[in-house]
Amino acid sequence: MHLQKLGSMHSPQIYYRQDVLCETLGGNSCHVLTITAMPESKCYEQICQFRNRPYIFLSARVHPGETNASWVMKGTLEFLMSNSPMAQSLRESYIFKIVPMLNPDGVINGNGEDLNRQWQSPNPDLHPTIYHTKGLLQYLAAIQRTPLVYCDYHGHSRKKNVFMYGCSIKETVWQTNVSATSCELQEDLGYRTLPRILSQIAPAFCMSSCSFVVEKSKESTARVVVWREIGVQKSYTMESTLCGCDQGKYKGLQIGTKELEEMGAKFCVGLLRLKRLTSPTGYKHPSHFLDLENDLIESSCKVTSPTTYVLDDDEPPFLEEVDYSAESNEDADVNENAADNDPCTQEAVLSD
Ligand SMILES: [Zn+2]
Repeated sequence: MHLQKLGSMHSPQIYYRQDVLCETLGGNSCHVLTITAMPESKCYEQICQFRNRPYIFLSARVHPGETNASWVMKGTLEFLMSNSPMAQSLRESYIFKIVPMLNPDGVINGNGEDLNRQWQSPNPDLHPTIYHTKGLLQYLAAIQRTPLVYCDYHGHSRKKNVFMYGCSIKETVWQTNVSATSCELQEDLGYRTLPRILSQIAPAFCMSSCSFVVEKSKESTARVVVWREIGVQKSYTMESTLCGCDQGKYKGLQIGTKELEEMGAKFCVGLLRLKRLTSPTGYKHPSHFLDLENDLIESSCKVTSPTTYVLDDDEPPFLEEVDYSAESNEDADVNENAADNDPCTQEAVLSD
């Protein structure tokens, strides 16, 4: 329904396509959207620029119960289809590939298996939406057009704020193998830029709630597979609270649909800022966009905490209560079994 409305927002300066990625087992369509700016003219340079824009790949709602993820996606989509100068600038900067609902059967039926544990080897018959979304990502990588950013929108039933899980090889080595010579490990810290930007411009987003550790238990999630197999360095899960915030402008308040939509729009603004930061010479930002951006930044709460992730409370104990400070992979398995027997961990709390 919302996709029909979105299609009707289509103006001549917007390149908008809605395709059926695949059919599900339940006979529902899984859609993929393409949004970018139409080239200004048919001259060679314009067409080249149009074709060479970096890809941003977004998805949402792999977990049926996480309705808030769809509100964030709605905010993103409506921002991308809007007539604002920032939206136009964003469309001119990137090609967006978006799968707004990765699990239509689950959303319609209200149940199903956890498709976010099927990304390593999705079965084309049993997990068609994951199989074909991964296929599209593999295709982009094969034609040397690996997306700049991948983000899968989720909702979190217990933690507060909006935050991201990302992938850091260095932090993962640090946290999982104390004897590793991790000090020598070099790593491009570019994966931190987008969450840091979001913590500055989006009032609900909290940097200190983010985590960049890759756990064994998460190896078949979208975030980790897209990072490891497809090679997207900026690969994230973005979790939006189902509760409220404990920091910033919304501290102490329950989060609502308006705030979730705002988060989706601010995510877009963050991508524009990422573009400016990562290509300072190649991209000229008109001054009025900077003013708009500054307004957005000033109107939002600044997060001052220097912490980048909180070890003790970074994920709910859903079969994965792991003490990162002293473990081997065998210990992780033991801890997982221990978690099985702990009644506190039996809640069906999905994360990532
Ligand atoms: Zn989820």
